[in-house]
Amino acid sequence: MLELNNVEVTYSDVILALKGVTMNVREGQCVALLGGNGAGKSTTLKAISGTLKSEDGAVTAGSVLLNGVPVHNILASDVVRHGLIHVMEGRRVLRHMTAEQNLIVGGHMVSDAAEMRRRLDHVYKLMPRLADLKARTAGFMSGGEQQLLLIGRAVMARPKIIAIDEPSLGLAPLMIRDVFDVLRRLKEEGTTFFLVEQNSAAALGIADYCYVMENGRIVLDGPADKMAKNEDIKEFYLGV
Ligand code: ATP
Repeated sequence: MLELNNVEVTYSDVILALKGVTMNVREGQCVALLGGNGAGKSTTLKAISGTLKSEDGAVTAGSVLLNGVPVHNILASDVVRHGLIHVMEGRRVLRHMTAEQNLIVGGHMVSDAAEMRRRLDHVYKLMPRLADLKARTAGFMSGGEQQLLLIGRAVMARPKIIAIDEPSLGLAPLMIRDVFDVLRRLKEEGTTFFLVEQNSAAALGIADYCYVMENGRIVLDGPADKMAKNEDIKEFYLGV
């Protein structure tokens, strides 16, 4: 479904952040990209979702294909039309709107009221906590609740693939478990995931396949269950 072939990303014409990254995500899979600070994980996501331009970055070599269609260096809004939603790092909720209004924004392409209701109900069934908080101003929700809201907002668009950046960042262990439970259920419903994480234990618990990145390059890849069992890999690359 998603294919990166020898992708090189350069910021401001001089900073080489990705140096020939090749990855594959099959339909229905959860593929995790792991690595430490500054490895290039977020840059990889931005190369996929068309959001490099706002940071003076560009894919300067290689290609990103979504269902066979080249999407590198096209507008972010066009990448969304191809079925990919990028849940960015940093809990970017619409702070002055209610949780439900945030969800409705996520489904803004839906013109039929009954369909909008169905999608909201689907999100509330998946995350009953959001149903309880639907009238709450998003800016007053906890970090974990905001993360759930962002996932819900992505789900409202019925994406084929969700690319999500560090969903566990700054969350307490119990909340991380809740967030990953929701991702697991969405995967069971058939959503494909590209998951960027520093929390390798959480990511390996849900991923089918895993890539490890260092200094803008993929240094290791393999099935997540094999990675999780290999003590050397865990110690040297994953910090588990
Ligand atoms: P973290 O987990 O800390 O977010 P990361 O693995 O997501 O790290 P990136 O944010 O992709 O890493 O950064 C990769 C490299 O690209 C770093 O050296 C970083 O300094 C550089 N970089 C990232 N964004 C920009 C930018 N807008 N302009 C210039 N350089 C950038």
